[in-house]
Amino acid sequence: MAAPVDRREKILILGGTAEAAAIARRLVAAGADVVTSLAGRTSNPAPLPGHIRIGGFGGAEGLARYIAENGIAKVIDATHPFANRISQNARLACAATGIPLEQPERPAWKKQPGDNWIEVQSLEEAAAALPAGARAFLALGRQHLAAFEGRPDCHFVVRMVDPPEKPLGFADCDLLLGKASADPEEEANLFRLHRITHVVCRNSGGEAGYGKIAAARKLGLPVVMVGRAA
Ligand code: NAP
Repeated sequence: MAAPVDRREKILILGGTAEAAAIARRLVAAGADVVTSLAGRTSNPAPLPGHIRIGGFGGAEGLARYIAENGIAKVIDATHPFANRISQNARLACAATGIPLEQPERPAWKKQPGDNWIEVQSLEEAAAALPAGARAFLALGRQHLAAFEGRPDCHFVVRMVDPPEKPLGFADCDLLLGKASADPEEEANLFRLHRITHVVCRNSGGEAGYGKIAAARKLGLPVVMVGRAA
């Protein structure tokens, strides 16, 4: 059962994920004073209850300053499991200001029978793991694509939420605008349509992005899975 909400407390949620939005909805419904912070990576973020602030704080010191100046009583870091810098900043800033920090963990996906995962530790290793001629679906944010630019022998299908500000650095690429679907059938249809031979992703965990993993299993496609840092 969730802990009771102290209505006098001002809570800062470090967000940008479905889990952070769910926490904001629950706390606001319980009467808490909540501000969700977004990095500002997407141009049109989904509406959230409570207050919203957008943009970086200026490192751990900036976050500590924000906490002090805004009377924040608790921070909930519900950022993406690969968003390591903001999580480290949250640890430092909460230690410096002496306020509690909750960092709910999103468990990594676990390999299931029928999964064909090529497990690697970095995006560079993921790029090297693709065979020549692969038609790879890159389920990666725009800031994680550079490692694949050195593979002109592969065809890439890239999905992103907002159109890129500058052309992608791939010789051979299809760009799809949109979000991941949690529905394996929808993801499988997309993979069939683009004749995908490999799916490349990071082990983010969570339900919202699992559709592509289940779809790859269904179609017998290998998934190049970048693991989390220890
Ligand atoms: P990151 O590498 O850990 O953070 C880089 C910098 O972005 C941080 O130092 C901070 O700038 C700013 N930042 C990050 N999250 C912030 C937040 N919630 N509010 C205010 N500033 C934030 O993070 P990232 O991988 O770029 O991810 C950025 C955001 O996108 C996160 O909020 C994350 O939850 C969300 N997201 C990330 C992914 C992913 O694949 N990494 C996927 C889905 C959603 P300052 O140092 O200036 O404060």
